[in-house]
Amino acid sequence: MQIVRHSEQTLRTALISKNPALVSQYKNLDAGEQRLMNEALQPASDLFGPIILHSRSDWITSHPEPAQDFEEFFSDPYRRTPSPEKCSIYIQCIGHILKFLKKRKPEDAFCVVGITMIDLYPRDSWNFVFGQASLTDGVGIFSFARYGNDFYSSHYKGKVKTLQKKSSSDYSIFDNYYTPEVTSVLLLRSCKTLTHEVGHIFGVRHCQWLACLMQGSNHLEEADRRPLNLCPICLRKLQCAIGFKIVERYKALVKWIDDESADTPGVTPKHSREDNVNLPKPVEAFKEWREWIIKCLAVVQK
Ligand SMILES: [Zn+2]
Ligand SMILES: [Zn+2]
Repeated sequence: MQIVRHSEQTLRTALISKNPALVSQYKNLDAGEQRLMNEALQPASDLFGPIILHSRSDWITSHPEPAQDFEEFFSDPYRRTPSPEKCSIYIQCIGHILKFLKKRKPEDAFCVVGITMIDLYPRDSWNFVFGQASLTDGVGIFSFARYGNDFYSSHYKGKVKTLQKKSSSDYSIFDNYYTPEVTSVLLLRSCKTLTHEVGHIFGVRHCQWLACLMQGSNHLEEADRRPLNLCPICLRKLQCAIGFKIVERYKALVKWIDDESADTPGVTPKHSREDNVNLPKPVEAFKEWREWIIKCLAVVQK
């Protein structure tokens, strides 16, 4: 096990930068927001810890890539920024998305992400990929097939046995597809992947600073270790891209966890339906994260 520990100075530069304009932008944030983000510089912070590598197959060791600090994010000429006209993130089940994308993105779409329970990488020779996003087009597609507890059992019914060539108007392969039980762990893993990939669409690259949602992950065990929250450096990037009050964001996240889903509890449909919006919302696995947000809210609102 290896701890990736950066000096306070390195983290300060990554978070605040040395560019005078970005320093003054930082100084203009709410006092509470700065107090929270400055936790990144505290080696003993109980809110933001270092990245811990468990093996050589972990992402950082196996995929060397340049680290992106706030200034590099800010000045990235290829970064897409939402505008008042294009500010919606659409999440579509895949049966719909192919038809949907064929026409065009809705007028107000900043990005469109497709989700499916079908394993999109069914061959053993393919590397295990959680999802992929096209940064420039604002389109991503993700399979949650491997997130259920039953994926690695031989009984898993969601595997595509043969990839058949279909005419472009025939999407029947995606119809009436098996949906595994929506467990709390599956929901947590899916939320991690979706928010990580949408982060990429906003131009946030893999985080090498602190334990963070935006850390790369090479395998499911590493993805499970990655927290659902952003470190302060990535949080500042997202805030810069979208523009939100950190307090409001954290409160909205707590509200999402606390809100009951509107459907009948305990009922998981056997087959997916394209218009199925009444899936259960088991949030037990989010409880620890909820506690963490409450602590952060206390720091911001002190
Ligand atoms: Zn990634
Ligand atoms: Zn980060």
